[in-house]
Amino acid sequence: MHFHVWLRFYGELNDFMRPERRGRGFGHQLRERASVKDTIEALGVPHPEVDVIIVNGQPVDFAYRPRDGDRIAVYPRFQSMDLGDLPRVGEPVPDPVRFVLDIHLQKLASLLRLAGFDAVVLDDDAAIAARGRADGRVVLTRDLELLKRSEVRWGYWVRHTDPARQFLELVRRFDLARGAQPFSRCLRCNEPLRAAARDEVLDRLPPRTRAAFDEFHVCDACGRTYWRGSHYQRLRQFLESTLDT
Ligand SMILES: [Zn+2]
Repeated sequence: MHFHVWLRFYGELNDFMRPERRGRGFGHQLRERASVKDTIEALGVPHPEVDVIIVNGQPVDFAYRPRDGDRIAVYPRFQSMDLGDLPRVGEPVPDPVRFVLDIHLQKLASLLRLAGFDAVVLDDDAAIAARGRADGRVVLTRDLELLKRSEVRWGYWVRHTDPARQFLELVRRFDLARGAQPFSRCLRCNEPLRAAARDEVLDRLPPRTRAAFDEFHVCDACGRTYWRGSHYQRLRQFLESTLDT
């Protein structure tokens, strides 16, 4: 049996749409009575990006099965769009926000850690989805199929490809400026840093650094020592300019 529905995607969900479907309603032929979740994902939109679904003026959940003639409006998460008290299909993102990223976003993970955010990197899709669900982490990826996995509860498709622009994108989308704690986390292994006295780290420092700095942090997981050298100044400028925008 074939039947016809009318769909419209709002806001950032248009990023997943073919150009002729962006910003306007379009007719769509369904061959079988799949759930509205499967219908939306078949059109290219991963379910974690969806917040509210309205069918013929009434909110529905992901399990709703569209009927012939339905008019379906789909609204995004992760952007400031006031939808009032409408029932959501997505659960609120845990606060403070934590992330699990696929291996292709390693540089973005380093920038998130630089700003103090918990950002785990894994290379296996099943492990990423499971970790996100178990820990309440937002899955970050550019792989749409990963986001469509049913275990993914919180997830976001990173639009940009350049790491600095990706970071800025996340700052805006997840309102990261308010939760940032720069230079509090190891860039290599994601563990929180602790302050250390010069005596403790002396033998790990280049000679010039020993004399020039008196504030040090160490990662107990990997033993790396951090101090406020020229690299630090550059990164601080990057963070300040990004978090202020
Ligand atoms: Zn470390």
